[in-house]
Amino acid sequence: MLDVLGNLERTHSCGELREQNVGERVVLMGWVAKKRDFGVFTFIDLRDREGITQVVVSSETAAEAHAKAKSIRGEFVIAVKGAVVSRAEGTHNSKLATGDIEVKVEELLILNDAAVPPFQLEVAGSENLAAEDTRLKYRYLDLRRPQLQHNIRMRAKAVKAIREYFDGRGFIEIETPILLKSTPEGARDFIVPSRIHTGKFFALPQSPQILKQITMIAGFDKYYQIARCFRDEDLRADRQPEFTQLDMEMSFVNREQVYREMEGMFNHVLKLIDVDLPAEWPRMTYAEAMRRYGSDKPDLRFGMELNDLSAVLKGTDFAPFADNFEKGGEIKCIVAKGKADYSRKQLDELQEFVKRYGAGAMAWIKIGDELTSSLLKVLGEAKITELAAVAGAEKGDAVLIVAGKKSVVAASLGALRNEIARRENLIDRSKYECLIVTEFPMFEHDDETDTYIAAHHPFTSPMDEDLEMFKTAVNDSSQHHLLGNVRAKAYDAVINGYECAGGSIRIHQKDVQALNFKALGMSPESARSQFGFFLDALEYGTPPHGGFAAGIERTCMILVGTENIRDVMAFPKTASAQDLMMDSPGVVDPSQLDELGISVNEED
Ligand code: ASP
Repeated sequence: MLDVLGNLERTHSCGELREQNVGERVVLMGWVAKKRDFGVFTFIDLRDREGITQVVVSSETAAEAHAKAKSIRGEFVIAVKGAVVSRAEGTHNSKLATGDIEVKVEELLILNDAAVPPFQLEVAGSENLAAEDTRLKYRYLDLRRPQLQHNIRMRAKAVKAIREYFDGRGFIEIETPILLKSTPEGARDFIVPSRIHTGKFFALPQSPQILKQITMIAGFDKYYQIARCFRDEDLRADRQPEFTQLDMEMSFVNREQVYREMEGMFNHVLKLIDVDLPAEWPRMTYAEAMRRYGSDKPDLRFGMELNDLSAVLKGTDFAPFADNFEKGGEIKCIVAKGKADYSRKQLDELQEFVKRYGAGAMAWIKIGDELTSSLLKVLGEAKITELAAVAGAEKGDAVLIVAGKKSVVAASLGALRNEIARRENLIDRSKYECLIVTEFPMFEHDDETDTYIAAHHPFTSPMDEDLEMFKTAVNDSSQHHLLGNVRAKAYDAVINGYECAGGSIRIHQKDVQALNFKALGMSPESARSQFGFFLDALEYGTPPHGGFAAGIERTCMILVGTENIRDVMAFPKTASAQDLMMDSPGVVDPSQLDELGISVNEED
């Protein structure tokens, strides 16, 4: 038999009572986290979102409540009325904020029962958690865990802090529609069929990019929004098909002014975890980041920069290296400090690791008691000694070397640098290192189709210095390859090796925008059919403008210190884009499809 709540009101939360409350009569409500029966006494750990309080029911002083407590199991919902008492000598629990007191129950109400949960909620250490798929199916139970309660509340605080920041800086929050027309940003759109206009489709926003630019044309000057975005991308463990961005845009600004808002916002948000980032973050061009770290989002919590060995090796008659230079490649290395004791097996593993990034092989030098190297036979001891010196390696170190195309050398050594830092525990987890990476390339070359695609998105402005080169590359087909050299006014904010935000100064002149569509291989007709409304808007007095978007999930992952994006979302999807709790995506009623004029090709 369940009890009714009636007029009973809670007086305190389960995380609130302390020694100074001793003697007070209180009412607590929550879930049974644990129950222990000791003859006369039954102890219950009562849990709500604020914490846990131990309540004790005695058969001597509260016989009826004690009898009821017998039928209680984990996750039952109960209310207790009683007096706060000091815990007996030796039974204080320093792990609980309420561990100095307990509540001596006079009356107990069972407000609801609960089925036996399919997994244990509170376990010591995250490695003991039940399988994630099970926890996602019963997300409401998993969300009861204090860690997830903390994460989701931190997320709410972060979003509040972001609103505070932009509101305080004169930005206006403007909502843009979810039912939109496709605005390509590199990923596939989710599309929504229209019933009223059969055969036509809306697209869900990949980001509000064009609309926020139009708010600038409309004269709002400073816009922001906490925007839900949807990208139908191929599956990746750290991606979700829907996610949230802080999206902002401002008019009449240069890049530095946008950086200031990026710094200001993150600095304000990271105060939530008492981290003070510098008022002005270091800046580094994309070219420098790639040269020194092999990455456009370097983790600056450790060194291990890439060293260029090309000068020492040019002119070598070792065929693989000579061929590599012939093809315009380079040879670089990193130094693994104190790792001259890497075994053959470990070096083989690292070689397999770099191969995943396209490297053909990994050569090495170890400066142990003797100098050993996979290149000793082909280059000779004098050259190896010289290479080690140029790499800045000392006795006890290992030098890890990759040759290949510039992009492959950067990708493989950049990843290897992170991998070694992780394996060797080189990262100080209490540190927060931030950086603004600037002057990204405007285009990426797609080797398969031999075309250029927008590295950021098609609305990003080229650098003023590169505008002429850009125009030449577009207008003179023999100079098309120059597109690969054009730099953009695009930038990223990086914290601890994670890209937290990205943005650009936009193209605000219609002829430059038309030229960019042409550079991307779009005919004037196709540009018009996709972006006609935007090209029209650009005709009517567009101010120079720029902005950025920051990933709310990524930011929260830094705030709570998790590597799992699902830990900062209340109802995430799996890595294969399914909601296991609701079992979506699901089939719909045939009549719904009929109304939409859609038929599904069932493949057997
Ligand atoms: N819309 C861009 C993105 O989602 C950000 C920006 O350029 O403001 O990455």
